[in-house]
Amino acid sequence: MKKWYAVIGDPISHSLSPFMHDYWFEKHGIDASYIPVHVEPKQLEQALHSMKLLGNSGFNITLPHKQAAIPLLNELDETARIMNAVNTVVAKNGRLKGFNTDGDGFVRSLLSYPVDKDGALLVIGAGGAARGISFALSRAGFSNITITNRTFRRAQELAEEIDSKAIVLTEAESNLSEFNTIVQTTSVGLTEEALPLSLTHLGSGSVVADIIYNPLETPFLKESKARGCLVLNGVGMFVNQGAIAFEKWTGIRPDTEGMIKLITEKLGGNHVN
Ligand code: NDP
Repeated sequence: MKKWYAVIGDPISHSLSPFMHDYWFEKHGIDASYIPVHVEPKQLEQALHSMKLLGNSGFNITLPHKQAAIPLLNELDETARIMNAVNTVVAKNGRLKGFNTDGDGFVRSLLSYPVDKDGALLVIGAGGAARGISFALSRAGFSNITITNRTFRRAQELAEEIDSKAIVLTEAESNLSEFNTIVQTTSVGLTEEALPLSLTHLGSGSVVADIIYNPLETPFLKESKARGCLVLNGVGMFVNQGAIAFEKWTGIRPDTEGMIKLITEKLGGNHVN
């Protein structure tokens, strides 16, 4: 019987997940489809109930439901519990199990670049994405993580949880050249031409990541590239979080490099490093 998967969110029409998963289903000869479902916050409980009723096999959860869905699920994987957010659900035998593949998706994407796991790594931001990424980096063996954030208290709390250190933004700015890898996780640059911190002291040769993927090149990445750094945007994280979800649903590890190129083209750009 044909299987069906979905992504739920509000808004949802912009989502690139249906394109990505349908492409992989077709490529692997899997008789399944992936549907975007617009779910408003007040409809969430009913929507999840309907997923079970209608024989859904798995779905992604995007904004604004990543946290609100938690009490509505039957089971939670450790990644989702740590992040207190769910982006992937596996539906089996009438039960829904929540996962969070964002952090591991980012790490997979980063590891395709020449990064030193023992080198100094700076995470800018301490929100939901930073949390998942920091835990995943720590689990993957990155041993020298520092966290900075506009609200310092949040950076301190996160740093304590992963046994790393926190510094204030101004200290991060003046010591930027000491970091081999810099990971920008705030929403700054998403809608406005702004930087989360000054890049005046950024040295050349660092690997600089921004998890935003639309725009493909934030002001933060533009300036880092101009200063001689190797940059990566959030397309790799988006594709890899989807690939991990796909693996959970089908047991198949899909091609991510080709998908990164396709998504980049869809967003109007060339695949650039
Ligand atoms: P949160 O709201 O949980 O966290 C936002 C973070 O941005 C906080 O650290 C916040 O600092 C900081 N911030 C917000 N505005 C400013 C500002 N004006 N100046 C300085 N810092 C600021 O969001 P998420 O962590 O969930 O998401 C962050 C970004 O990650 C989004 O842009 C989202 O698009 C992207 N993302 C990308 C994914 C991908 O697949 N590539 C997946 C998931 C998210 P403070 O604590 O001080 O408020």
